[in-house]
Amino acid sequence: MEGLDAVVVGGGLAGLAAAYRLAKDGLAVILFERGDHPGSKSMTGGRLYLEPVRPYLPELWEEAPLERMVTKERITAMAEGASVTFEFTSEGLRRPQPHSWTVLRSPFDRWFGEKVAEVGGFVIPQRKVTDLLKEDGKVVGVVAEGEEIPAQVVILADGVLSPLGEKAGLRGPLDPRYAAVGFKEVIRLEQGEIEKRFGLREGEGLAHLFFGSITKGVFGGGFLYTNRESLSLGLVVGIEAFTERLPAEMPELLEDFKARPEVAPLIEGGELLEYSAHLIPEGAHRVVKRLYGDGVLLAGDAAGFALNHGITVRGMDFALASGALAAQAVKEAKERGDFSSGSLARYEELLKGSFVLKDMEAFGHTSEVLAHGRLYDRYPYFLCSLAEEFFRVGAGPKEKISRTLWRFAKDLLLDSKTWKDLWRMREL
Ligand SMILES: Cc1cc2nc3c(=O)[nH]c(=O)nc-3n(C[C@H](O)[C@H](O)[C@H](O)COP(=O)(O)OP(=O)(O)OC[C@H]3O[C@@H](n4cnc5c(N)ncnc54)[C@H](O)[C@@H]3O)c2cc1C
Repeated sequence: MEGLDAVVVGGGLAGLAAAYRLAKDGLAVILFERGDHPGSKSMTGGRLYLEPVRPYLPELWEEAPLERMVTKERITAMAEGASVTFEFTSEGLRRPQPHSWTVLRSPFDRWFGEKVAEVGGFVIPQRKVTDLLKEDGKVVGVVAEGEEIPAQVVILADGVLSPLGEKAGLRGPLDPRYAAVGFKEVIRLEQGEIEKRFGLREGEGLAHLFFGSITKGVFGGGFLYTNRESLSLGLVVGIEAFTERLPAEMPELLEDFKARPEVAPLIEGGELLEYSAHLIPEGAHRVVKRLYGDGVLLAGDAAGFALNHGITVRGMDFALASGALAAQAVKEAKERGDFSSGSLARYEELLKGSFVLKDMEAFGHTSEVLAHGRLYDRYPYFLCSLAEEFFRVGAGPKEKISRTLWRFAKDLLLDSKTWKDLWRMREL
């Protein structure tokens, strides 16, 4: 533990990416993970957008334990007793390289931990970092369960709550307005059965998002991802709504979701393998004051780097890229022999030049847009009623499509709240 360049706190994707890059560049690095192994405490939906992160960790993906390449995208708007589904598939999702893959964090992070060790980094599981070592306000190491471990720099990748980020003075506590809670089940199904049930070719996968009445009019939604031999199925609800307005308990909501006729046949006969719950930052970058300080950097969820855009849910790509960029900044700081805040400011510069801060800036307010209840009752109900008018042939003469459309458009557009919602949606 003597002469360390860097200590990384947290064996999630941000911490592992940082430790991997540092060790590969020949720096002496130790990563502490409080769980039994990297990934044992991590949870995700889980689809990883790989395109944005390829340039930062190019050599890893050939042998990574990815589950299925996503070739089919589905979004379902749900009302009581009805739903409308949009499905998209394209050669562009496969070529020139598959843009996204489903993942299971436990095997993925465990494998990544082994890669860190292969390139010379130390991954220490079952070790919680309890405090930061400071000298004249500068971070000079960590305290891990009573043991002082000095290092030139500490990368905090300790996840969404990041108490150590608070101790470092880089961020405040998580504000419930800027977080959601997710509940997830992993359900085992035969590989061939998954392909048959979801109309997939071997190795191909589906990403399916749901919104509407399943969250009883509050901010949130459902997800279903196909893995090689399992499904990841879950629900996410904004924390504020969860604690103050949700008219049902989360497990009950999840059971209702699973019982919906759009979902029940998809999971029928599956065996429950795993149940987990976790927080997700939703605009939590607002509680972060600075991304670096003297001898310390914040990466991944700890820095609030996650975006729910309604159509895309991202956090893992931000975690991987910010971890790799933190490592890059540390490597350059070592070359300068200067780990002060001024020197580590390079981290923010690197983030600004990357998709991480560009996307956070462009889409950082989507959580406010998505927090509006009409997205979960009025619009799904509207879509379902319109679809019913189109598809149903009643007893009398059928109305012309143009007339039905006009009737619905009038109803929607004469409502001043629609215009307010449309105005807000320019943030998406
Ligand atoms: C329900 C849900 C669905 C999601 N869906 C998606 C999705 O489909 N696609 C996507 O890209 N993103 C998704 N996300 C977001 C994504 O999972 C996160 O953004 C990403 O996992 C963040 O990685 P991280 O390394 O920053 O944090 P984490 O994965 O949380 O890792 C932090 C690690 O630090 C460890 N740790 C914490 N404190 C200490 C300490 N004091 N000492 C030692 N170790 C410590 C923890 O045990 C943990 O292993 C989802 C999240 C949730 C909860």
